[in-house]
Amino acid sequence: MSVIGIDFGNESCYVAVAKAGGIETITNDYSLRGTPSCVAFSPKNRILGVAAKNQMVTNMKNTVFGFKRLLGRKFSDPHVQKELKHFPFKVEQRPDGGIGIRVNYLGEDNVFSPEQITAMLFTKLKDCATTALQTQINDCVISVPSYFTNAERSALLDAAAIAGLNVLRLMNETTATALAYGIYKQDLPAPEDKPRNVVFVDFGHSALQVAACAFNKGKLRVLATSSDPNCGGRDIDMALAEYFCQDFVSRLKLDARKNQRAFLRLLQEVEKLKKQMSANSTRLPLNIECFMEERDVSGDMQRQQMEQICADTFNRVERTLRGILHNAKLRPEDIHSVEIVGGSTRIPAVKALIEQVFGKQGSTTLNQDEAVSRGCALQCAMLSPAVRVREFSVADAQPYGVRLAWDAARGEDGDMEVFPAFHAAPFSKMLTFYRREPFSVSAYYSDQVPYPDTLIGQWNIKDVQPTAEGESQKVKLKVRVNIHGIITVASASLLEKKQDSAQNENVEMENANENVQGQEAPMETNGQEQNGLDNQEVREGGGEGEQHKQTWTQRVGQWFSGDKSKDKAKKVLVKTIELPIESRTHGFAQHELNTYMEQEGKMQAQDRQEKERADARNALEEYVYELRGKLSEGEVLHDFVAEDQRNKLVNTLDALEQWLYDEGEDQNRQVYSDKLSELKTEGEPIKQRRLEFELRPGAMDDFALAI
Ligand code: ATP
Ligand code: MG
Repeated sequence: MSVIGIDFGNESCYVAVAKAGGIETITNDYSLRGTPSCVAFSPKNRILGVAAKNQMVTNMKNTVFGFKRLLGRKFSDPHVQKELKHFPFKVEQRPDGGIGIRVNYLGEDNVFSPEQITAMLFTKLKDCATTALQTQINDCVISVPSYFTNAERSALLDAAAIAGLNVLRLMNETTATALAYGIYKQDLPAPEDKPRNVVFVDFGHSALQVAACAFNKGKLRVLATSSDPNCGGRDIDMALAEYFCQDFVSRLKLDARKNQRAFLRLLQEVEKLKKQMSANSTRLPLNIECFMEERDVSGDMQRQQMEQICADTFNRVERTLRGILHNAKLRPEDIHSVEIVGGSTRIPAVKALIEQVFGKQGSTTLNQDEAVSRGCALQCAMLSPAVRVREFSVADAQPYGVRLAWDAARGEDGDMEVFPAFHAAPFSKMLTFYRREPFSVSAYYSDQVPYPDTLIGQWNIKDVQPTAEGESQKVKLKVRVNIHGIITVASASLLEKKQDSAQNENVEMENANENVQGQEAPMETNGQEQNGLDNQEVREGGGEGEQHKQTWTQRVGQWFSGDKSKDKAKKVLVKTIELPIESRTHGFAQHELNTYMEQEGKMQAQDRQEKERADARNALEEYVYELRGKLSEGEVLHDFVAEDQRNKLVNTLDALEQWLYDEGEDQNRQVYSDKLSELKTEGEPIKQRRLEFELRPGAMDDFALAI
């Protein structure tokens, strides 16, 4: 079984595989390393990846792109409304407020969610990997922007589940890059030495992400991140397209904004121009044939002019670069190097800004396009038993502060910050509540997030009852930022205590540093009592699935009686009872996921069927051409069949060719394979005669004499 890493980019995806010999990038069905994040629909099948992008201009309304930015969002979200302006395909509001993408598929209107569309792309990536590696693919690590919130992360996990992928980790893109950097560095400082601080800048198609990481031998720690989810290469394309639109209006009276197809072509052409300008500072031409109203257009631009037109984007880049110094509390001189990845870091103005802000040139130690997927593949190998790789510890950071709020009881505050911004992740904290009845807690982002709603979720803790004496019970909640960066209340348990003799017990004064059943080591305990809560922190090594069983645990605790002079150690039995939790947070319910998985399965079967049909048609077509060619004058089969039979056969072949382009264009697979078998009954004996002739000793000499 192979383990893979997927970089799910807004524009293109990369897939890497971890093998015993190292990390390799998988090429797709077009032998390309990058697969466009593009999904299209036709009357017969889905068209995925490269093929989808290739037919975009001629099938605009049914070619979906840019969906990474729609994951986990509502239709009314202002961010979504802004994106819609650039889509040639139809997007609508679903009855539940979610996003529906309406396309014509199999000759009918179909509405798909962004999660389903993402799953279709993942299906393609999975197929390419399965074909390339000739093995089943299940386990993977998928990259996410570090600024993704709970809703977007959950949606991505749902998409992967629909595609039948088992995600061992959603990994922040810049963290994956950092891992790809660190694992091959032989000269990192020793564990006890001052770490090496490296800044990673990933400027892609739609977003800019920066991370500061501290490296020691065998480990990395993300200190902080800084990002702009609305600043990427596409903003430059858009600004240039707007410029040329105005230029064409004033010079040629052609308004491309009124023609979606022309505007899409213009965007594709300015992107090419932008890339050329990265390598060339002279004036460069832009020519588009038959642009609009059957007219050709042309224009030109110089790099300096582009920098002026896109000044707003470059200002945003500078602000985000400076942001990392502030967030990580680093000065430029504290930074060892700045590593750059992502297509848009190739722009000279961006390189200049990096040098200006950090006082050093950006280095390109890493493959700019493939670093994220390589880091993900490495992480996947570390998490999976299937492949052995060098261990490298990755401590990520949670990008936003998280607060927990609850119904205040007994004068508690009812609100506390569980994770400040850039707190280590994954991580669990144990919070203790004293309750005699069911209660609920809610989690919120306390910082500004690139999402309209700061609510993360609500959890109802059920089955809490008072003690036999009517007192409050001790309830422990495990609040966690999990391996995917998702905030959750992972468990709730009730701790019932029994002592083997009647001792004056005072639970409120219990030592807060006690161990709690079910926690993993190593454990950090802060032991503070706050608002009736005692909190314990657990840094997680990674991996889900700890079990909370109902167990009797015998421990020796230090208890205080009313008379402190009588302090003595004493045996206490603690019964840990797992409490049911009802949660309301992001993501599909299991039954919805099941429906989508079933739908995806049917679409895959349809694609397979269509492929088999097309393959059968191609096989027949190929045979017709091949046989006719070989039967013609002077060709290899010409003399191995009597003339009248040959003429009859050639007539059949001509008729078949005609049929293939006529009513035979769209038949089912069986029709083609039947015709092929029929044809072979005539063609194969002729080929056989030729073969037998060839195998006769000296046959080729005879043949040469014969012709
Ligand atoms: P994101 O990371 O935003 O989700 P992505 O990972 O798909 O998207 P990348 O592949 O890193 O994005 O970068 C694609 C962007 O880089 C495109 O906007 C592309 O035009 C731009 N780009 C690629 N090469 C160059 C170049 N030589 N000069 C300028 N821009 C370039
Ligand atoms: Mg990217």
